[in-house]
Amino acid sequence: MQKFTACLLLFSLLACNSPKQEPSLKLYVLDGGRINVLNARAFSETDVYAGQSFLFANPIFVIEHSKGRLIWDLGLPEAIAGMPGGMYTPDSIFHLTVEAGLSDQMKTIGLAPDSIDYIAFSHCHFDHTGNANYFSHATWLVQESEYEFATRDSLPPQAGYSPDSYSALSKVQKLDGEYDVFGDGLVKIIPTPGHTIGHQSLSLQLPSYGPVVLSGDLYHTPENRKEKRAPRFNYDVAQTRESMEKMEAFLTENGAKLIIQHNMEDYESLPKIPAYLD
Ligand SMILES: [Zn+2]
Repeated sequence: MQKFTACLLLFSLLACNSPKQEPSLKLYVLDGGRINVLNARAFSETDVYAGQSFLFANPIFVIEHSKGRLIWDLGLPEAIAGMPGGMYTPDSIFHLTVEAGLSDQMKTIGLAPDSIDYIAFSHCHFDHTGNANYFSHATWLVQESEYEFATRDSLPPQAGYSPDSYSALSKVQKLDGEYDVFGDGLVKIIPTPGHTIGHQSLSLQLPSYGPVVLSGDLYHTPENRKEKRAPRFNYDVAQTRESMEKMEAFLTENGAKLIIQHNMEDYESLPKIPAYLD
């Protein structure tokens, strides 16, 4: 009888202490502002978008893996949130607004900037690096070609880079191609050059949602994707198309969904913090 009671006690202890099964990978979607493209002409090599305007989402992603956290793309600077009416880029093509600052959003999911281990941008254009300097202790995962370009002594303003926005990043891990961030295939950086010299995308194997790719600016709209249109301001338009072809093959092979980061519909379809995708 004593033995039975002991067994029962042990059983209930084990049952009580069994840890709740936490998902091995979580994707948090944060808001990095809006970009109103007042004249979308430049988003194709032809004039098919001349006179049209686009409203772009601009998400920031936090990827939580059991071995660490990665923040992917850093949105527009949260300082814009304090500017009534937002701001215009000097060429007056883009109107930028930020509603919620990144710092407050991080608090919503209980994270301080120093809890982030890795920082990576799809590429270093200003709308993807705005809040990077908060993460100066994190390791910057960047294609070597992008790093060399982004940190050149002089960059023409039309290149779209804002070197001050990532100047505090000093722990740099230069990549040359694909990179498996946590070594188990769940979070992989995939080179997709063309939009910029070292543009990259992020492949995630989410346990419930399934495989998904965050495509940075490989595509800007579903129409761009369907018609294989590349912005005329891309670093290399032909290389962009090659990357598009490789990406489409990768998506088919892996049965992966694609999130076009600037596409409002894709953005709106994702759960918002504190909810997450797993
Ligand atoms: Zn870009």
